[in-house]
Amino acid sequence: MEKPFDRLKKDLRNFAKAGAKMVNIDVPEVEEKPIIAEPAPEAPVAPPQSAKKAKKKDDIPVNIYRPKTPFVGKCLSNEALVREGGEGRVQHLMFDLSEGDLRYIEGQSIGIIPAGTDANGKPHKLRLYSIASTRHGDRVDDKTISLCVRQLEYDHPETGERVYGVCSKHLCDMQPGDDVKITGPVGKEMLLPDDPEANIIMMGTGTGIAPFRAYLWRMFKEKHDDYKFKGLAWLFFGVAYTPNILYKEELEELQSQYPDNFRLTYAISREQKAADGSKMYIQSRIAEHADELWELVQKENTHTYICGLKGMEGGIDEGMSAAAAKHGVDWSEYQRTLKKAHRWHVETY
Ligand SMILES: Cc1cc2nc3c(=O)[nH]c(=O)nc-3n(C[C@H](O)[C@H](O)[C@H](O)COP(=O)(O)OP(=O)(O)OC[C@H]3O[C@@H](n4cnc5c(N)ncnc54)[C@H](O)[C@@H]3O)c2cc1C
Repeated sequence: MEKPFDRLKKDLRNFAKAGAKMVNIDVPEVEEKPIIAEPAPEAPVAPPQSAKKAKKKDDIPVNIYRPKTPFVGKCLSNEALVREGGEGRVQHLMFDLSEGDLRYIEGQSIGIIPAGTDANGKPHKLRLYSIASTRHGDRVDDKTISLCVRQLEYDHPETGERVYGVCSKHLCDMQPGDDVKITGPVGKEMLLPDDPEANIIMMGTGTGIAPFRAYLWRMFKEKHDDYKFKGLAWLFFGVAYTPNILYKEELEELQSQYPDNFRLTYAISREQKAADGSKMYIQSRIAEHADELWELVQKENTHTYICGLKGMEGGIDEGMSAAAAKHGVDWSEYQRTLKKAHRWHVETY
């Protein structure tokens, strides 16, 4: 029988007077209430949590080959990535590593030392390139490494003469069988989390696709016992023209095979228009999907990667700022904590 507490006290006194003894009181179960004073009008934005499983430092190979004693590999192939009607020259290069000890993981870079000497007669300094293949290489035999290289070319501001970048031209002109001097690997900024359920947002322009190609191969093309990707991979890829969409076929094939786990969003600046009629840059796509992105970046298992042209970060920040502001959050503050939590990764050049 249920009784209010004041009635129960009276009953107890009567029982005592009658010489009875109480052996048990049943307390009805009450619904547990959360320990919050008032429900907030909107759920507060929690500060970003650190990525769950950080990679162990010893797992990451670095500087196996240094500039004084580089690994000398061979070029296996050199293929054009820009199709007819596109602008510039971008090549996919594969090098043979079978004669050395070079190992690397997705998201790292290597150094290339161009042949010849500089204007002072000294050997050229190395240039860094993001690795475009997984640790297993394009042939999945652990014996190759691939790069995605844009040939730098511009008109000299004073003489008007056509100038070509030393190392990028050296690489783009390479023939199968040619030697290539490699250093590294280097870089810990762009590593993938081990968690196969993580969400991976990738924002890239031009050759910034290189590390993302490696991630996507690891997630979808290769089969691993210890890494079966089950999260969402979302690639925002900015280029000038459709024929400049590097690895277009590969990307679209993956998207059609894994529509639930891989989203592909192009921003083709010279062909598409943003809602306000301006050119479609990657930041326009960020703005278009700002609310979804804001939801995603707040998840503890979401990592965002930015790679490509320096300057692309500004637009991305604008889009994210607008989305965060709708929830009363200061984006630069939030982004700082995301960076601290190793969930916001940037490599621009
Ligand atoms: C971490 C990292 C990863 C990278 N990954 C890649 C990659 O995956 N793919 C890729 O292609 N590149 C990548 N790069 C860039 C690469 O390292 C080289 O900087 C690039 O290839 C140019 O080197 P180069 O030797 O051809 O040019 P250089 O001969 O060194 O010439 C470069 C110099 O040319 C001048 N210059 C350039 N443009 C102009 C202009 N418009 N007007 C006047 N002067 C100009 C500047 O002084 C500049 O310093 C990466 C860079 C970094 C730091």
